[in-house]
Amino acid sequence: MTEINSFPQALTIAGTDSGGGAGIMADLKTMQECGVFSTAVVVAVTAQNTLGVQDFQALSPKMINEQFQSIHDDFDIKACKTGMLADAEHVQLVYDNLQKYDFGPLVLDPVMVAKGGAQLISDEGIDLIRTKLSQLATIITPNMPEAERLADMKIESQSAMLVAAKKIQALGAKNVIVKGGHGDTETVRDLVLLESGENFWMNSPRIETIRTHGTGDTLSSAIVSSLAKGSTIKEAILFGKKFVEAAIKNTIQVGHGHGPLNHWA
Ligand code: PLP
Repeated sequence: MTEINSFPQALTIAGTDSGGGAGIMADLKTMQECGVFSTAVVVAVTAQNTLGVQDFQALSPKMINEQFQSIHDDFDIKACKTGMLADAEHVQLVYDNLQKYDFGPLVLDPVMVAKGGAQLISDEGIDLIRTKLSQLATIITPNMPEAERLADMKIESQSAMLVAAKKIQALGAKNVIVKGGHGDTETVRDLVLLESGENFWMNSPRIETIRTHGTGDTLSSAIVSSLAKGSTIKEAILFGKKFVEAAIKNTIQVGHGHGPLNHWA
């Protein structure tokens, strides 16, 4: 008889995207493609498409606690991630549940603003990610604006990226990736700062496309998938970068705006 729960399982704690390109939808597609069974705690529901976020609503604390309980009672979750968390109350709820249950290493994607400009979390929620949730992060994956907010500084050079990464690590996150995709350089340079203090750059050619919706979700989900399958932190980060690069290269023509990536790249 096949052993129950022998298949690698992961969890995403985030918001949905009715347009299918970002949030939990991107997470599930990515994990599926990476050979991992994915479960999800829906924190918020967005009305969204490739043109932008039209509206969102967070679920009740009761529903969120129940989802955590349901997943805990049945699955053997080896790694998890957080994405859109909406507001401070929900960041606190997620923090409490992650203290209560062991879902393995946490990849914290500190989602703040969607590419179209919609704010996906309140300022108080961001403050709580800084002061509390980041303490639970095995890996935190801010883009440049998010890193600036978390480190409370301007990042105007590559050396400043390292200073910011160290400040974010000092908040409690063990490993930090500062994503360079928001710049305009020909090469995208992501900085990785590991728990050991080792740091290195992950370079990739900038791909000129507006079809980058859900890039952050895809990266963090690919990393979580790799961790769920037993990779080391460094292996998982390098795998995530490769996966997202291929997904951007092969974007598909769907919708009229910032279209989705190709998760089966
Ligand atoms: N919607 C949800 C629910 C998300 O979690 C995210 C990002 O994590 C986005 C939208 C933003 O996607 P993007 O900024 O890549 O368009």
